[in-house]
Amino acid sequence: LRRLYRSLLAFVSVLLLWSSAATAAEPPKTSCKSIGDPGSGCLLGGITLEGSDRLQVRQHRNWGTPEMLAAIVRAVDVVHAEQPGGHTLVVGDLSRKAGGRFRPHRSHQSGRDADIGYFLKQSRCPGFMRKANRDNFDVARTWTMLWDWLSRDEVEYVFVDWRLQKQLYIHARDVAQVARTNLTRIFQYPKSRAKRVGIIRHQRGHSDHMHARFRAPASVAVGAAYAALNPHLIKPTPIFRTIRRGDTLTRLARRHKVRIKDLRKWNKLRRRHVLRPRQKLIVGWRSPRGPTQVTAP
Ligand SMILES: [Zn+2]
Repeated sequence: LRRLYRSLLAFVSVLLLWSSAATAAEPPKTSCKSIGDPGSGCLLGGITLEGSDRLQVRQHRNWGTPEMLAAIVRAVDVVHAEQPGGHTLVVGDLSRKAGGRFRPHRSHQSGRDADIGYFLKQSRCPGFMRKANRDNFDVARTWTMLWDWLSRDEVEYVFVDWRLQKQLYIHARDVAQVARTNLTRIFQYPKSRAKRVGIIRHQRGHSDHMHARFRAPASVAVGAAYAALNPHLIKPTPIFRTIRRGDTLTRLARRHKVRIKDLRKWNKLRRRHVLRPRQKLIVGWRSPRGPTQVTAP
């Protein structure tokens, strides 16, 4: 009887352990759905980033996932707590209410992208995305904000101009004393601005603002589950190829297993179009998440 009792006890404890593990693995509850790729997706049930004495936002362009907005607000609060006296931060475009195409951006479609101004060495809010340079860039405050996201693994990447990246790198290494292995993981600098490595990377046009891509795991998970039931919500994204010398439509079609007719249609090419080297052409479509088939829109 004692043996039976003991095995029963073991069984119950395993059951308890299993159920607690199951609840721990569950993602936080959210009704927000970040659907598809940020370059072709949409946003359902997003929320707005509200303006405050610490944040200047753009109405109707300030929608996003709760994870992203919470991360922005918290990081800015950390900056003000650690280094009081900073100016109101200018926040640019996030996503539209339902996400989707947001000109002139290529991404910003699923509530996970944010254009955020840099902290500058001035007490008044610049009021617009002002270019940062060696003289006016507030490296310390900007790094505090970035580090808050990086240390929590909340960002996939952040586009920062190469020259500003250099200032941040030196600050992180010499002042913040970030370990070398972390520096290598975080920064593209000093490798090469053309190398696609690091979380903080160079991209042209990011000297007056940074572009941060947030992970937003709960909204992405809920979005993926929802998209599986509603496949029409996921639109395919174009696959681009740069034309090299000697490329012809026939050769491209053969290489990418598509029809010449489709290449013409996707790229709006005329009959007698001559391909130029370095020109970018759509050679196919990919559907990054969800069960939809890869088809031309
Ligand atoms: Zn952007």
